[in-house]
Amino acid sequence: MTVSSGPELAVGDTAGHTGSFSPAHDPRALAELIVDLQSAGLRLETEIERRRGGAGPSDSGMLWVEGTAVTVPTETDAARTSPYVLRAEDEGYGIYRDGERLASASGAERPRFYDMTTSDGIPYWKIALMHLDSLASTVVQTCAYWGKSDQCTFCGIGVSLDSGRTIVKKTPAQLAEVAVAAKTLDGAVDATLTTGSSLGVDRGARYVARCGNAIKEASGLPVEVQFEPPLDLDVINEVGDLGIDSVGIHVESFDPKVLGEVAPAKARTGIEHYFRAWERAVSVFGEGQVSSYVILGMGEDPDLTIEGCRRAIDIGVYPFVVPIRPVAGSLMEDVTPPSRQYTERIYRRVAAYMTARGLKATGVAAGCARCQACSAVNAIQNLMQIGPRPGGGS
Ligand code: SF4
Repeated sequence: MTVSSGPELAVGDTAGHTGSFSPAHDPRALAELIVDLQSAGLRLETEIERRRGGAGPSDSGMLWVEGTAVTVPTETDAARTSPYVLRAEDEGYGIYRDGERLASASGAERPRFYDMTTSDGIPYWKIALMHLDSLASTVVQTCAYWGKSDQCTFCGIGVSLDSGRTIVKKTPAQLAEVAVAAKTLDGAVDATLTTGSSLGVDRGARYVARCGNAIKEASGLPVEVQFEPPLDLDVINEVGDLGIDSVGIHVESFDPKVLGEVAPAKARTGIEHYFRAWERAVSVFGEGQVSSYVILGMGEDPDLTIEGCRRAIDIGVYPFVVPIRPVAGSLMEDVTPPSRQYTERIYRRVAAYMTARGLKATGVAAGCARCQACSAVNAIQNLMQIGPRPGGGS
């Protein structure tokens, strides 16, 4: 299936990355390269660590490009024919286009804690994974919507469970044990926990928060937990009482028509209930500590998307804008990611609102908006603050 990413929005042609404008020397060129890579994907001539399956729009390769954390599509049809190629070098990797070396890259080493097992014989890597420098886990690998007409079409939560790569439910004690090892052996700087949804009034928030609390108590790592808006908003205060640092409550799209198509259960919750949940969460966790995925490339109206982001930013919510990452085995596995021209235009508008409102990724304690590897919005925000390139151009 190919999903329209909405009308093309013209930006300057910045495809060339030569001389002093190479990503190694110019933060503007690096931001442009990251936006382009996240659209076009990266052709692999070597093996790298990848994220597979899990909740949300997730399949991707994980790299540091010139020291910046980036996830990029590597397994999609577009990625297999991408003009960008990753080649192994004596030390790390190089990213090439048309035979020209554009940037250096390094991959994540296999984490040392992956070789450990719990006392009941479960490999640590089935409990949590390293996503670059963040420890990540889907604490309940089932969702009330999975396999039904309510299933989110971009999601892969059941895929990794079916493949045997994880267990159905992780306990707080297991997660705490793994977090201590991930911090001490592999330098994890935070933990990002998500969960499938339940039909209870808390939608699974209480359990994922208990898991986050156990990690924090044992390891001291800052923790983000992600959940659907609880029916009873007082649950958000309970999550705060457990010492959680940041929360992700993901609306996925501000276009109600698209939301109804890709996430019917979330559409029934209604975008206004997301705003009510976010307002409560900002009052508990503070401005910038509440974020929402906003996925681009699902056919959404870009104006509705930008307006929704602006409204969220106004109340202190960080809109974590990302291009769709088709997950193999999900209902959107064959979707073509949106063009760089489309995503960059939205990034720029959202970044400008965030700067005016004083929201920055550096102020986020934990989770996806802290890591930023799946989005280029922070790179674009930094680029806009640097100002235009001497002699013109963007
Ligand atoms: S609510 Fe949607 S995105 Fe979240 S786990 Fe369930 S199906 Fe996946």
